[in-house]
Amino acid sequence: MAVPKAFAGEKLIAPGLQPEEVFIESLIEERPVEYVMPSGREELKDYDVVILGGGPAGLTAAMYLERSGLKSIIFEKANVGGQISITPVVENYPGFASIAGKTLVDLMAKQTMDYALVLQGYDVKDVRKKDKGFEVTTGRGIYNAKAIIIATGAGNKNLNAKGEEKLAGRGVSYCATCDGYLFKDGKNVIVVGGGNSALTDALYLDSLGAHVTIVHRRDAFRAEERLQQAVFQRNIPVLWDSVIKEISGDRIVEKVKLEDVKTGQAKDVKADAVFIAIGYEPYNNIAKKLGLELDEEGYIKVDDKMRSSMSLVYAAGDITGGIKQIVTAVSQGAVAALTAFEDIANPYWKKAEGG
Ligand SMILES: Cc1cc2nc3c(=O)[nH]c(=O)nc-3n(C[C@H](O)[C@H](O)[C@H](O)COP(=O)(O)OP(=O)(O)OC[C@H]3O[C@@H](n4cnc5c(N)ncnc54)[C@H](O)[C@@H]3O)c2cc1C
Repeated sequence: MAVPKAFAGEKLIAPGLQPEEVFIESLIEERPVEYVMPSGREELKDYDVVILGGGPAGLTAAMYLERSGLKSIIFEKANVGGQISITPVVENYPGFASIAGKTLVDLMAKQTMDYALVLQGYDVKDVRKKDKGFEVTTGRGIYNAKAIIIATGAGNKNLNAKGEEKLAGRGVSYCATCDGYLFKDGKNVIVVGGGNSALTDALYLDSLGAHVTIVHRRDAFRAEERLQQAVFQRNIPVLWDSVIKEISGDRIVEKVKLEDVKTGQAKDVKADAVFIAIGYEPYNNIAKKLGLELDEEGYIKVDDKMRSSMSLVYAAGDITGGIKQIVTAVSQGAVAALTAFEDIANPYWKKAEGG
């Protein structure tokens, strides 16, 4: 399989959308190979706005910036399209009843590339504030910008169980809202975790009619009381003090190996899906380097216009926390771009200073 993930034996060699020549090189090298997406546009060193991350938030922001007359560029370190490039099917993006993640990425990327320069394989290593504007250092050069939009997303924490990576997208999921519907009506699903996300996922999957079992490594949940009550009221079984050691199946998930952390005893449990909800990691390195205000989980704090704590730095999409969905990412990307336009044209902080 080349899309959404390709494996050579057990090794992941191609995560998501890849042109054929890059795929073949990855196959020969037995590792993911970085490449630069060709673009007909001229690469400049000075931009009005530099966007970090080519997921739905970044792609939308660039389109809105260019349509406002601002020169923008997107630096994407891995796959244009971000997380959707590894999403098999998207069923909740308005306008498309069901669409392959790769197809949606192609459509979004093409639309943005009609306006802006999108450079893939460009990892932003540093952003420094200068007297006027910002200096953006990528692995391939230094660029100047009047404003920055950070749309670097967030990733799910992995269990690091054997078979987890291989079966991701084939029964292993990190998003119940996205994939739960595929396992409705009597399918055996396991939810891993004990926090608010895990219990919300369990309740959601139970409402869809799935047979849900929660696996939690401790002997008590840390989720809010009302969620715990709802789980107990619905008699959703919980396997306490248990961890998943292995997820196995031929092409799709078939069973998991559980281990009791207190006794060390192992047992196999049949399962059609494993929903992993043990938390997210915001990709906030650059935000930290800039000294932006973050919330307690490390997400960038923004106001309702996507302004961060530093003037002319905006954030959009999963990196701001909250609801992690494509619709929210694209909407925040548009808001960030239009606010950047407003601020570059008419700086609000100068107005506040009477300037
Ligand atoms: C398996 C899966 C299935 C999903 N299914 C759905 C679904 O069905 N419906 C739905 O609405 N949502 C779904 N989601 C969630 C959705 O994909 C995300 O909410 C959305 O992609 C967030 O967009 P974003 O632009 O904020 O971030 P991302 O999509 O994460 O994009 C951020 C990009 O920034 C890049 N980046 C990070 N750091 C740097 C750096 N320093 N320099 C350059 N680039 C950088 C990353 O490589 C990445 O490509 C799913 C997510 C997953 C993982």
